[in-house]
Amino acid sequence: MQSKNSSKSEKLALNLKKDIVQMIFNAKSSHLGGALSCLDILSVLYSGILKINPKKPKDKRRDFFILSKGHVAAVVYATLANKGFFSKNHLKEFGKNNSLLSAHISHKVKGVEVSTGSLGHGLPISIGLSLGLRANKLENKVYCMISDGELNCGSTWESIMLAGHHKINNIICLIDKNNIQSYGNTNEIIDLKDLKHKFESFGWNAFNCNGHKHLEIKDTFKKALKDKNKPKVIIFNTVKGKGIANFENKLISHYRPPTKNELIEVMEEI
Ligand SMILES: [Mg+2]
Repeated sequence: MQSKNSSKSEKLALNLKKDIVQMIFNAKSSHLGGALSCLDILSVLYSGILKINPKKPKDKRRDFFILSKGHVAAVVYATLANKGFFSKNHLKEFGKNNSLLSAHISHKVKGVEVSTGSLGHGLPISIGLSLGLRANKLENKVYCMISDGELNCGSTWESIMLAGHHKINNIICLIDKNNIQSYGNTNEIIDLKDLKHKFESFGWNAFNCNGHKHLEIKDTFKKALKDKNKPKVIIFNTVKGKGIANFENKLISHYRPPTKNELIEVMEEI
């Protein structure tokens, strides 16, 4: 429920929740669980951390956001529409035939930098971009959001090694650690154990953060951005399906769309 004292990012988070539940319901699409787990992180990121201008999406001075877990496109499209990159009316087209708003993220949509969906691609692309920016002595930052399931991809670890070795200091990797991937719990498939320690051993500056507490998310971004020497990673501890009881911490929330009753419940609650 929105209160008078809600921050800008908390208001955005409520709008995003309403939008994505409706979009995924309309499209009979999937991946609501993984969209809800990263919704609060995106709300804070797009409320003053990321340097962007919706009127000039290709501005040379912009920061870059790359979604590597491209299957949660709905939450990024909703964020971009709420920030004014394009009209919210377009959200109705999500997941429909011939729509620009495809269910896996597309760079044809204003404000989206890269199309992804095949996992393990976002971080290598982001690190290449970061290297290019640094070689040109540019100040832009690159934020890349990956899932915890993508930490099973070899390409992810190749890029983590490369960034640590070359001290690529303009990349901030955001891990949506909801502990579930498409086929089960991450610790049963490949146990990631102490991720912070793992990243530090590869030369990264690593932070743990509750991925649903807006003030903590904002403070952790600020803390991470103070470091000018190393690549940075924020390990966001999140809940898959956060905010809808039937979806929270459930594997099935990776796949199934909300029912009509669940849609009504979310709309009434907001
Ligand atoms: Mg996951």
